[in-house]
Amino acid sequence: MNKVMGVAASLLLLVSCHNPKADDTTAENTAPPQEPALVTVPGFNADSAYSYAQAQVDFGPRTPNSAAHDKCAVWMAHKLKGWVDTVYVQKYTATAFDGLKMKSVNIIAAINPQATTRVFISSHWDTRPIADEDDHDRDKPINGADDGAGSTAVAMEIARTIHQQRPEIGVDIILFDSEDYGQPDDSKLPKAQNSWCLGSQYWASNPHVPGYRADFGINLDMVGTADASFPREGVSATMADWVSQYVWHTADRLGYSSLFVNRIFGQVTDDHYYVNQIIHIPTIDVIRYGEDGFGHHHHTHKDNMDLISKNTLGSVGKVMIQVIYQYNQEKSAKTKG
Ligand SMILES: [Zn+2]
Repeated sequence: MNKVMGVAASLLLLVSCHNPKADDTTAENTAPPQEPALVTVPGFNADSAYSYAQAQVDFGPRTPNSAAHDKCAVWMAHKLKGWVDTVYVQKYTATAFDGLKMKSVNIIAAINPQATTRVFISSHWDTRPIADEDDHDRDKPINGADDGAGSTAVAMEIARTIHQQRPEIGVDIILFDSEDYGQPDDSKLPKAQNSWCLGSQYWASNPHVPGYRADFGINLDMVGTADASFPREGVSATMADWVSQYVWHTADRLGYSSLFVNRIFGQVTDDHYYVNQIIHIPTIDVIRYGEDGFGHHHHTHKDNMDLISKNTLGSVGKVMIQVIYQYNQEKSAKTKG
């Protein structure tokens, strides 16, 4: 992921999460709709998530066509197979903007594959092959502790957590490859266009199951640093606004409103954009964006494990788990009428 575009004027209208409550004007005997109570969910283990981030970084930079990349893919698929019903290993060759053929692997871990009501959590797991935002060693690959490993670790821990207390709905964990080999120079447009997020573009055009549908998706990217905060991203608020509101409102109910900040910022070309555009599944991006943008570590050699916070990983994981089980409860309550 690279670009942030300006926020469209129409997005400047902040949308508040509606929490239906009784007020003084409510007529007698017309009870307002009650928001479902927060359901009890299995605990999200931040230590475990942190260990999966560490394990990825320990392989070395996970750039396509490298041994570290291939070993990490095998390890992730192996771990996921212990927790879910079906793991799809989707291999393809992505052609980068400079013509490089990248041997790429998307990994999709399906829980309850037969369920027609589904949601997915995604993250890219590859890392950037250059440190183009750094002052030194710009041609060397970054470790991608935050940009790649942290969000992937949260997604993996979600799979392990769900395994312990199965919801009725289907849940897919999707790990996209080849996200971070994009052309950084916008002056090279139009060639730079669509040079990022090659794994999600491939998957959205060739889903692991023909005709794949999900009610919504949540993409995680750079969700691991101690100084993270997540305002609502603009593409998400435009193309999947109800999902964005649902997630931020759930975070607020859990007491994480200072982490999941309810204001909208610009538009990021990240994996969620292509899922919305190509396969039309409403999908949002949870991505770090502060006063320093994506952070001083972004696409530099500072993107190391010493920036990664168990607390942040744990908070993001807890919100995702609550969203999954909350949605599960609402859907199964409807089915049972
Ligand atoms: Zn990146």
